[in-house]
Amino acid sequence: MSDIDAGREKKKLMSAKKMRDIMTTYYIEAKSAEQNGKKVAWITSGGPVEPLIAMDVIPVYPENHGAMIGASKMGGEFCEKAETLGYSIDLCSYARADIGCSIVGGGPVGGLPRPDMLICCNNICGTVMKWYEIQARYYDVPLFIFDTPFCHAGYHDEVKTYVRRQIDEYILFLEGLCGKSFDLDRMEEVGRLSVEAQKLWQAVLDTARNRPSPMTCFDAFFFLALIVTLRGTQVTVDFYRELLAEMEERAAAGIGAVPRERYRLLWDNLPIWYRIKWLSDAFASHDASLVADTYTSAWCGQLKYMDENNFLDSMAEGYTRIYLNIGVDEMIAIILEMIDRYDVDGFVMHSNRSCKPYSLGQYDIQRAVQRERGLPSMIIESHMVDDRSFSESQAETRIDAFMEVIKERKK
Ligand code: SF4
Repeated sequence: MSDIDAGREKKKLMSAKKMRDIMTTYYIEAKSAEQNGKKVAWITSGGPVEPLIAMDVIPVYPENHGAMIGASKMGGEFCEKAETLGYSIDLCSYARADIGCSIVGGGPVGGLPRPDMLICCNNICGTVMKWYEIQARYYDVPLFIFDTPFCHAGYHDEVKTYVRRQIDEYILFLEGLCGKSFDLDRMEEVGRLSVEAQKLWQAVLDTARNRPSPMTCFDAFFFLALIVTLRGTQVTVDFYRELLAEMEERAAAGIGAVPRERYRLLWDNLPIWYRIKWLSDAFASHDASLVADTYTSAWCGQLKYMDENNFLDSMAEGYTRIYLNIGVDEMIAIILEMIDRYDVDGFVMHSNRSCKPYSLGQYDIQRAVQRERGLPSMIIESHMVDDRSFSESQAETRIDAFMEVIKERKK
């Protein structure tokens, strides 16, 4: 190893193993749910999971599974299977991978456990509505649709009343399927744990304000799994408390995720799951650290609307005003705030053909970032799970050119 490589060697994060162990236990429990008399609900990534936890239903996330399929470089195979069934190549690659895997079986965890019910919240996109309808027919199980109107400009009383009413319907749906009453005291405890976990996740992400940053967005993509899948549980709170301690320790010791961090960047959109390491290495070779991203911060961005002492009422607003359910102007305000908060030198946008709601406004956002902060930006194109869509040589050329601009500005 050369001196340069040695200087750039990345120190391993101790929490990574613990996180893998927790996720393994979680999937084993989900897969043995039927033997243990438990029910399984498939739920969308932005869906209100806390009532499921309060009812002892195991939540399973096809999108988290899609991420694992992508990271295992199996996305192309499953997406292709869905395409042979007539699904368009332009469809979200999470949906294509999930539909393909349901039929073929296998995958990184041997497929998902059969659902007893599906919970679809359309706060992330419209794709999930059709996707979950298809899966409800395929598995012949009930589907609950939690409808969150798009917030073009703020939040209104009519929306608040409409969404709040659906929480009651959601509870009735769960009571009917689980054959037991909803326990409001248990819900209160789950809500408190959910808010606590989100605060800890925000604190973990904020350790990236240190120079050098102890973590990159590529680490955040990995450590995100628990705040997505098991919000509202003690194990999640305990894990993020430990992760925060590890990050703070690294920051205090001056250990950077990119050891010679000279440039700090902000990532926009979902990860390109099958090229995480490649992208991490490509930017690190320029001493650039992607210190923050708009994706993982979405699982704590609603804290300002959440009230742990009135969780059920406040979650109506929290789940409606999530990042993908707001207008571009509000997105721009969030991104500008992140640029200042993490003190970044440039903006890397993943134009993700899978995810239209995330990608459609990006050119407006790019112009606003240039106008308001004068920051250079670059765009990488792909589908986040379908590895047939990515060109390493094109991405490498763009990263090199972009980093030249960043370096020139910092001279
Ligand atoms: S279109 Fe976007 S938000 Fe919708 S499921 Fe796919 S990746 Fe998620």
